[in-house]
Amino acid sequence: MKILLVLLLCLGNVWAHEKELKTRADEFAYGDYKSQRHHPWPFPILSIGHNMQSFQNYGGYPYWHDGLDIRSVSDQPIYSSTGGKIVNIENYQRGNPLYWEVAILDAEGLVWKYHHVDRSSMPAELFQAYKDGSPIAAGTFIGNVVKWSVTTFGERYHHLHLLIVAKDGKYINPYLLMEPLADRDAPLIKQIGIAKNHRPIKGQEVSGEHALYVEASDLTLHDKFILPPHKISYRLNGGEEKVVWEFVNLPSGKNDRDFIEDFYMNGTCGNYQCRQFFINLNFTPEAPRKTWKLPAGKHEIKVFAEDIVGNRSEKTFQWKVL
Ligand SMILES: [Zn+2]
Repeated sequence: MKILLVLLLCLGNVWAHEKELKTRADEFAYGDYKSQRHHPWPFPILSIGHNMQSFQNYGGYPYWHDGLDIRSVSDQPIYSSTGGKIVNIENYQRGNPLYWEVAILDAEGLVWKYHHVDRSSMPAELFQAYKDGSPIAAGTFIGNVVKWSVTTFGERYHHLHLLIVAKDGKYINPYLLMEPLADRDAPLIKQIGIAKNHRPIKGQEVSGEHALYVEASDLTLHDKFILPPHKISYRLNGGEEKVVWEFVNLPSGKNDRDFIEDFYMNGTCGNYQCRQFFINLNFTPEAPRKTWKLPAGKHEIKVFAEDIVGNRSEKTFQWKVL
């Protein structure tokens, strides 16, 4: 009996040690933000309409979405996910009532920007706190989600656009700081194929230098609002797994559009009518549009698409270099 007890204690230790290692890995991946995780969502979510890496193009000028579109019912009250100091209340597209921001600086130095707050519903205490510089508590009512004018994919698009800006000026993926969602849908890998001149082509044979693309998407609590996956990786000809991009953060400010037209190939769309993502598997920040020069013969790539809670899918593609 005693021996059994000792054995169980040992196993317990091993398990605890493994858990500790995992926690350290998390810290490594997400920097200082770990202590900030598991904040409550600002209201009950209908679904996620766009994530950080969503491709946006409403007229020839593609850009990263940068934040999360948290979809809501009409006139949904918003309660701040953190406490802190109000550092901005602004109509950031002057004259347009849809574009009001409330920004809160939390104790860790992160700025939480709530966009699309209805100006007429903002409480007087909010303006007073902004004026005085007095802190507000987590869970403070900051106004309602503004009534959105557009219907997209058959649904009215009322939403809060939440941006989180770190001290270094980068946008942090808000999911990393929030309570995990009950998302059990793995991303979908629709197809993998060959690309020439940064555009997908048909077939499984190619001559000369080329790239590969994956058409992949993810859903978060919805069945139509497709989103780009959180992480894309691959193994080429049985080699080690290479990460194309995992979206932990994105540059902001004047670098707001960096790499978007390299990571997404021609043919990608993201607007109220169209969502389709052709992801460049050859992408690296060092050589964003580099093509591969592979020896003649058969090749194989296994592609992985993962969402932020770790649901993962894979698909294999074979092609021939002539
Ligand atoms: Zn948005």
